[in-house]
Amino acid sequence: MKYKIFLISIGDVQETILNEISSGLQEVFGTISVSILPRSVSLPKSSFNSYRQQYNSSVILDHLQKLFNFPTQTKVLGIANVDLYVPELNFVFGEALLGGNVAVISLKRLFPEFYGHSPNHELFVSRAIKEAVHELGHSFGLSHCENKRCVMHFSNSILDTDAKEKYFCSQCKSKLYLLGVNVAQS
Ligand SMILES: [Zn+2]
Ligand SMILES: [Zn+2]
Repeated sequence: MKYKIFLISIGDVQETILNEISSGLQEVFGTISVSILPRSVSLPKSSFNSYRQQYNSSVILDHLQKLFNFPTQTKVLGIANVDLYVPELNFVFGEALLGGNVAVISLKRLFPEFYGHSPNHELFVSRAIKEAVHELGHSFGLSHCENKRCVMHFSNSILDTDAKEKYFCSQCKSKLYLLGVNVAQS
């Protein structure tokens, strides 16, 4: 199957950040093409919860799915700069439909400043790449992995994100291979 990954900004996201995430994804996904859609999507008003002051990521996924009638081998990853949540959790770094074609990540909690630390662009970008690979992994059909170094390990906090690598472990790679997704060796 010929897979394609597209990134799209949701709301206001700097183009340089999209470019940096895109090249990180390209390193991980190898021969699968990664590109940035030349338009952005506004945050759907209905996703905002004024009580929580956060955006419901499932509503955003719905919105993306309605906007783009892509085949399942096309994966669209939305990048947002606002805090996301699902009703059961305080926040999420991102969400994806398992085996679906839409995913979203939030940059909000990836900035060291969010935790009271000094800015560190390299750290921020590496976190964004890991979260992007993780959600795309779900959209390719992968569940969470117990290996703490694997990108498919669940991040409960930013410490988990920092502990893992941007790559799939060998087990997740073989699962992907069985699903028809061949990613580059790391
Ligand atoms: Zn996950
Ligand atoms: Zn794994």
